[in-house]
Amino acid sequence: MRYKRTAIIGIGLIGGSFALAAKRAGIVETVVGVARSDETLRAALEVSAADEVTTDSAEAVREADLVYIAVPVGATRGVFEQIRDSLAPGALVTDAGSTKREVMQAAAELLPDHVTFIGGHPMAGSEQSGVRAARADLFEEAVYFLIPTDTTSQEDLDRMQQVVRALGAIPSVQTAHNHDRIAAATSHLPHLVSAALASTVAKLAGDNQEVQSFVGTGFTDTTRLAEGSPEVWRDILMSNADNLGDSVEELIGALQTLTVALREADSAACERLLTEAQQARWRLTNQ
Ligand code: NAP
Repeated sequence: MRYKRTAIIGIGLIGGSFALAAKRAGIVETVVGVARSDETLRAALEVSAADEVTTDSAEAVREADLVYIAVPVGATRGVFEQIRDSLAPGALVTDAGSTKREVMQAAAELLPDHVTFIGGHPMAGSEQSGVRAARADLFEEAVYFLIPTDTTSQEDLDRMQQVVRALGAIPSVQTAHNHDRIAAATSHLPHLVSAALASTVAKLAGDNQEVQSFVGTGFTDTTRLAEGSPEVWRDILMSNADNLGDSVEELIGALQTLTVALREADSAACERLLTEAQQARWRLTNQ
C-alpha cells in the first residue's frame, strides 16, 4: 500500500502529524498541504509535513489518491463542497473530526459515488495546535475510530485499517451514533470541565496576586485541556451538544451530591464519594 499523492486539508496538529507518521511509515509519496494562512503553509514545508502547499482545496485533491481532512468539524461540510467536483475516481477520502454524525451526513449528501469515504477520529492529540506541534508518533498505541458508510466494502475498510495501523494506531470500527456517545463522555465532557474549572478558579482568584501565586500542580493537571484551540473545541462541543448535555447533567448530579455532603458536614459521605471516585479512576485507567 503506497499512495502516490496525498492531499491533507487542514495541515495543523492532526493533519501535520498524519503527514509525518504516514511519511515515516512509507505509505505516502508526495504530500500536498492545505491551510488558510501563509504562515501555516510555510511552517508545513519547514517541518517537512508537506512537499507542496496551497490554499486551494479543489486543486490539492485533483490527482490525489488519498485525501485526509483535518479541519475543525464545522468547516468539513464546506470542504466537501469545495472538493466534490475535483476528486479523482477511486480516491480514498477520510477525516479526523472529533464528532462523526454531522460529518457522515454531509459526506453522504455531498461526496460523489466514484470515491470512498470512511470517517475517522484518532483518540490522540494534545492541548497544542498548529503544524509546528505535529509529531510523527502522535498516533502510536492510540485507538483510532473508523466509521464506514452503508455502502463501504470490506475491501475499502481493510484499506483504511491498513493506513491506521501504519500510523501505529489501533483501529476500532463504530457507528457514528455510538462514537459520538462514547466521545461525549470520555473526551468532550473532560474538555468542558477543564475549561469551566479554569474560568472558575480565575474568577475566584480575581486580581489577588497572592492567590495567583499559589496556583499549583492540581490546577495545572486538571486544566491542561482548557489550553486547546477554542475554534476546534467550539465545533466539537456544538456538534455533540445533545450527548454532551446528558453527560453534563450527570456531572451536575455528582457535584450536587458532594455539595450536600459539604454543607451538611457529612465527612463519612464525603469520604465515600471520594473513595468511589478513586476506584472509578483506577478502573478506567488500568484496563
Ligand atoms: P489545528 O491544529 O488548529 O489545525 C486545523 C487546521 O485546519 C489549520 O491548519 C487551519 O489552517 C486549517 N483550516 C481551518 N479551516 C480550514 C478550511 N476551511 N480550509 C482549509 N483549512 C482549514 O487543529 P487540530 O487540533 O489539528 O484539529 C483538526 C481536526 O482534528 C478537528 O476536526 C478536531 O476535531 C480533530 N481532532 C483534534 C484532536 C486534538 O487533540 N487536537 C484530536 C483528534 C481529532 P490555518 O492554520 O491556516 O488557520
